[in-house]
Amino acid sequence: MSQKAGFETRAIHAGYEPDPTTGAVIPPIYATSTYKQDGVGGLRGGYEYSRSANPTRTALEGALAAVEEGERAFAFASGLAAEDTLVRSTCRPGDHVVLPDDAYGGTFRLFDKVEQSWGVEHTPAPVTDVDAVRAAIRPGQTKLVWLETPTNPLLNVGDIEALAAVAHEAGALLVVDNTFASPYLQQPLTLGADVVVHSTTKYVGGHSDVVGGALVVRDLELADKLTFHQNAIGAVPGPFDCFLTHRGLKTLGVRMDRHCDNAEKVVDFLTRHPGVVEVVYPGLPDHPGHAVASRQMKRYGGMVAFRVAGGEQQALAVCERARVFTLGESLGGVESLIEHPGRMTHASVAGTALEVPADLVRLSVGIETVDDLLADLDRALG
Ligand SMILES: *Cc1c(COP(=O)(O)O)cnc(C)c1O
Repeated sequence: MSQKAGFETRAIHAGYEPDPTTGAVIPPIYATSTYKQDGVGGLRGGYEYSRSANPTRTALEGALAAVEEGERAFAFASGLAAEDTLVRSTCRPGDHVVLPDDAYGGTFRLFDKVEQSWGVEHTPAPVTDVDAVRAAIRPGQTKLVWLETPTNPLLNVGDIEALAAVAHEAGALLVVDNTFASPYLQQPLTLGADVVVHSTTKYVGGHSDVVGGALVVRDLELADKLTFHQNAIGAVPGPFDCFLTHRGLKTLGVRMDRHCDNAEKVVDFLTRHPGVVEVVYPGLPDHPGHAVASRQMKRYGGMVAFRVAGGEQQALAVCERARVFTLGESLGGVESLIEHPGRMTHASVAGTALEVPADLVRLSVGIETVDDLLADLDRALG
């Protein structure tokens, strides 16, 4: 599959040719742990043992590399498994990582409670402030500058090109967690990032039916390190999970366009609703990250946050009154979700600098009929 093919063509065709013996158009679920060898060491297609490689996973990894415009992709059992494998492939005790000061909670916990005990230190910095990220770098010691854009739940936007330059000046790699934007809206490797991280659990899988993660890179030396560590650590997804994730990826483009269409209409509705004091969406011209988002994203995504008039009690009530929006954590599936970050996804950062406003509600806008979503929000806002 040529890199020049369009996004949807790559998402549908890259990574797999119809099976030469049966013509199967879709990669079979290779439920096998081991492979017959033609003589000792005579591997067919390099397959030896399914921790090292499995054809269902190979197909998914080929497609993920193609949609991110990378050279190699690596699938993992979860987003956090991908992150841990990346850190262990690139950092040693005494090394240092700059993290977003509003990083995904699980990412922050991984660095704060796990990697730190193995000697990898971290400093938080705001993704919106290039100078603050530069100041947080410890020359010679910082190996990774970690970026999420847009962030969760306040949808702060970081400038990928500018932060890649800052990381490279210091000899560090720029890692971009592209989970919120998805490769349809933003391709960080084309803007200078060295590694893309995904929780494929979210938009890539897209149907809330599988947990998974991925790393995508261009540099082949780094790819070799990741190949080694993916196998040596072994946090790999099984073939059933790979099949579901790959099936989801094929429709990412059409789903994301509908997520964006619906989110834009929800934003327009909320902006005019008297029960809402503020709407947070990078597509709004007064959002502080609007200019950068317009430069580096195709559209502004399906995540929306808003502050409710009447404070925390009213925000909780809105979450509980919604019916089409399901009250729940996670994001990126076809169904709309609503949650109260302060009490749910972000409860662990209460009382810290990362605390989110108590009157904040977060939406993962799904692809249902938009009028039903608007009517549901109207009812929930009372
Ligand atoms: C969910 C998520 C992760 C973690 O991925 P899992 O698949 O849950 O391990 C990492 N980053 C972001 C932005 C996420 O939303």
